[in-house]
Amino acid sequence: MSMLDLPAPYPWPEGKTSAFCFTMDVDAHSPWMWNNRHDVPQLLSHLEQRHFGPRVGIRRIADMLKRLDIKGSFYVPGAVAEAHPWMLPALLDAGHEVGLHGYFHELVTEVSDEEFTRVLESSLEIFAQQTGRKPKGFRSPAWEMTPHMLAEVKRHGFYDSSLMGYDTPHSVDGVVEVPVNWGTDDAIFFKFLGGGDPAPRSPAEILGAWTEEFEASRRFGSLFMLTVHDWISGRGARPLMLETLMERVLDAGDVWLATVEEVAAHHAAHAMDRNPVTSDIPGTLLEHSAWTRS
Ligand SMILES: [Zn+2]
Repeated sequence: MSMLDLPAPYPWPEGKTSAFCFTMDVDAHSPWMWNNRHDVPQLLSHLEQRHFGPRVGIRRIADMLKRLDIKGSFYVPGAVAEAHPWMLPALLDAGHEVGLHGYFHELVTEVSDEEFTRVLESSLEIFAQQTGRKPKGFRSPAWEMTPHMLAEVKRHGFYDSSLMGYDTPHSVDGVVEVPVNWGTDDAIFFKFLGGGDPAPRSPAEILGAWTEEFEASRRFGSLFMLTVHDWISGRGARPLMLETLMERVLDAGDVWLATVEEVAAHHAAHAMDRNPVTSDIPGTLLEHSAWTRS
């Protein structure tokens, strides 16, 4: 027995070897509004590119999920729900999960603890108004978290899906964490807003990369957390690429396809003793004895 030995495989339900979640962060126009909150420029191109998401992208992808009979998790900023009041009810009607994603897609690094708590309450209010229920999950805009945010997420009894300290469900300060993965996020490969951004990669290339990631998740018994955006992956050949990927997931037969809410509930009920961690952040290196010794 060595500390380098692999732990027992994560206990996925139904004897499955790994899991797959389809998730969409429905950012639409909200990050643009946040970035320009002090002075809104009279410019249309980014705004129109982002409006494509609620107008077209989310529908193309929802239609593909319906055809494959896959339920996904959609994280919707309060401002996007406010601008598109049909969205949350329509997603729930189709059997998908809806979760929180900030109100203005506010970035953690740009808000105080008190401001975070205030806009979280506003998000909950609009979800309650539009759906008559409280969501189960939280995903931080841009996937940054603070100990204060975790405490707030815990206070409300939400799960979190923003961090990647393990590639299977675990808990941070007692909050169930269903981890994300930058390697299976569409934005880093396809987001293009002009102005010298690197050219978007081809869907065929990323299908290859994500198929490799999928095979690795089966081999290692981990969670494949796919994250796409309405305005990015709803366009052009990308929905077709996602359809091919998910057909492969369905064909594999040994993979648990679930919403993030289902994964979080499974973890809470059956595996809370598995990999609990805390949000302790180390003190500054300048206080370290290796630095301060005389
Ligand atoms: Zn986002």
